[in-house]
Amino acid sequence: MIYADNAATTKMSAAAIDTMTSYLKETWGNPSSLYSFGQTAKEALENARADIAAVIGADPKEILFTSGGSEADNQAIRSAAALGAKNRKRHIISSAFEHHAVLHTLEALKKEGYEVTLLDVHEDGLVRPEEVEAALREDTCLVTIMYANNEIGMIQPIQKIGEICRKHGVLFHTDAVQAVGHIPVNVERDNVDLLSASAHKFHGPKGVGFLYAKKGVRLTNLIEGGAQEKGKRAGTENVPGIAAMATALKEAVLSMETNADQIKKRRDRLIEGLGAIEHSALNGDREHRLPGNVNFCFEGIEGESLLLLLDDKGIQASSGSACTSGSLDPSHVLLAIGRVHDVAHGSLRLSISEETSDADVEEIICAVEEVVTYLRGFSPIWRDLTTGKKQFIL
Ligand SMILES: *Cc1c(COP(=O)(O)O)cnc(C)c1O
Repeated sequence: MIYADNAATTKMSAAAIDTMTSYLKETWGNPSSLYSFGQTAKEALENARADIAAVIGADPKEILFTSGGSEADNQAIRSAAALGAKNRKRHIISSAFEHHAVLHTLEALKKEGYEVTLLDVHEDGLVRPEEVEAALREDTCLVTIMYANNEIGMIQPIQKIGEICRKHGVLFHTDAVQAVGHIPVNVERDNVDLLSASAHKFHGPKGVGFLYAKKGVRLTNLIEGGAQEKGKRAGTENVPGIAAMATALKEAVLSMETNADQIKKRRDRLIEGLGAIEHSALNGDREHRLPGNVNFCFEGIEGESLLLLLDDKGIQASSGSACTSGSLDPSHVLLAIGRVHDVAHGSLRLSISEETSDADVEEIICAVEEVVTYLRGFSPIWRDLTTGKKQFIL
């Protein structure tokens, strides 16, 4: 099996599993208990908080543990919206290719009387900082732009956007779920006020993540109950998951540079190999791409069939995000960068990791070539394209 869907989730690292197991088996006390067994769990929690904060250049007090990236996004956006409403500011700026955890939260806020401007994403897959600045209004309370896109892997000009938000005194949130643990992220350098991350995207466990909230940015109480997480999120903490998340993140950051170099070489070989298939195109540009992301469109085929046939060959990939697969709509991300429906339908996302070998890469290229040719063989759209009834776009 070749697993090339690391943007959907990653395999837990052995060290993270060890940490998690030890907290499940041995240090399983409740961190809120006063006796020493509970306090050991509390220490684990605070050590994890300090370790995670250090990785992104934050203070431990600025880290709130959550159930993952989606919760962190919801909490960040809802908090900024609530703060804005206090000053009659109910306008939010975001982009058309955000994760649904952001887009659907914004949809919900619209029903509550907020106004949302969704910026266009350009063909290269990048949001323009000057367009963020132009969209700012007197009543803007939040800008939320993702750090790196989960489908096309484009790394956004976060530092620049953050600078603009700072200059205008507007809160800036970034969904950094695809970035943290993969590329260097630093909240000071990047001028961010709120940042979301998720453990299962960097070889940690599922169901745990964190939200960075800059000192002074007041979060809302997402879950009422006990005093855990300063009362912002009641409920006994997921100590095994949180400790394992810290282990995974420290590990990812230690080997980030070496891994990224290796992964980039294989990514570039994939881009070269798949680019040689006729009437195909890379989505997004070459330069601003996450180390492990490859996203292609092949004209005249359906992405779904491509995935199923690749699965038969033991290759796990995706046509876009895990969240939209299962629906027949083309990816909102590919539409946002200007791909027409027919072309967007024939998409393939490969997200590789340090475990993907050179041999795996060659196998993927051969398999994709074979399957694309096979599918085009009985595709009515391909027939129309080759007989000149329809014009090729790619
Ligand atoms: C995976 C992902 C999320 C959701 O994270 P969960 O921990 O699965 O809730 C949010 N944003 C982006 C960009 C993602 O890739």
